[in-house]
Amino acid sequence: MVLPFIFSRSKKGLNFFLCLLLRIDTGRSNLTALTVKSFQISYKSPDVRAECLPKRYNRNLSLPLEILYPARIRGLVFDLDGTLYAQGPVRRQMLQRLLLAHWNRPLEGFRTLRALQSYRRAQEHLRESADVAHPDLAVAQLTAACRDCGLDHQTLAGLVEHWMDRQPLDLLTAARREGVVELLDLARQRGWKLAVLSDYPADEKLEAMRIRRYFDAVVCAQDPAIGRFKPDPRGLLETLSRIGVTPGEALYVGDRAEVDGEAAARAGMSCAVIAAPGAGKHPENLVTISTFGQLARILTGGAV
Ligand SMILES: [Mg+2]
Repeated sequence: MVLPFIFSRSKKGLNFFLCLLLRIDTGRSNLTALTVKSFQISYKSPDVRAECLPKRYNRNLSLPLEILYPARIRGLVFDLDGTLYAQGPVRRQMLQRLLLAHWNRPLEGFRTLRALQSYRRAQEHLRESADVAHPDLAVAQLTAACRDCGLDHQTLAGLVEHWMDRQPLDLLTAARREGVVELLDLARQRGWKLAVLSDYPADEKLEAMRIRRYFDAVVCAQDPAIGRFKPDPRGLLETLSRIGVTPGEALYVGDRAEVDGEAAARAGMSCAVIAAPGAGKHPENLVTISTFGQLARILTGGAV
């Protein structure tokens, strides 16, 4: 257990350790081909979003910022994890906490890490089978994760509740992305509707980040009315109906092109993805931003 703790003291060492032990994010790559295909299909279809496009642009856009057409915006929907706050620092600090909590029980600590990874991996598998409806998505994820890690439902649910729901709460405000509050204030001033669509229950996290009061609706993919993870568009469409905004009038803001961008495209709405500068180009119809200040400038035509 000493070695992981040493690894956790530096970012590079921690990333190496995470990749080695947890194989984080291995479920993402196989969605990419589907993403590109879906964008092409949605772009050709005569949906409401296409009619918003200024005529001088075509599907070979190299700078798709104008696709937002700010005058049409009436609502913003946000993903939570990785979008409204940076996940990297939170995960690193959570790993340190978990290692310290198990310094004298290394095997138990390792089993906990593996169980949490099974839980995340189960979610990625459920994303890929998003066309299959689950009456209780939370239970479906737990069941799949239990099959993978060998724990029973109650034990794994307790670990998830402790290490993924409760423990990170006091870290979220510090990890909140710069410019989030300013953008939310701006949206309120302009009368735009605001909502959050998250894979997991989001109310407590938003309260911990002190921004819950801004949102007209906070929706979770695990809600019985949805029961599907992104990139299935049902969550976005349900969220839009709750705030009374059409897909052509809304922008979805996320952090994963292959998940958030895909869901937005299937719902017929534009999407902005927050990513580090130089992260690479995404398919058309996807705006890549590096800060929320940049998004605010886009949405106001440079007025802020
Ligand atoms: Mg996210």
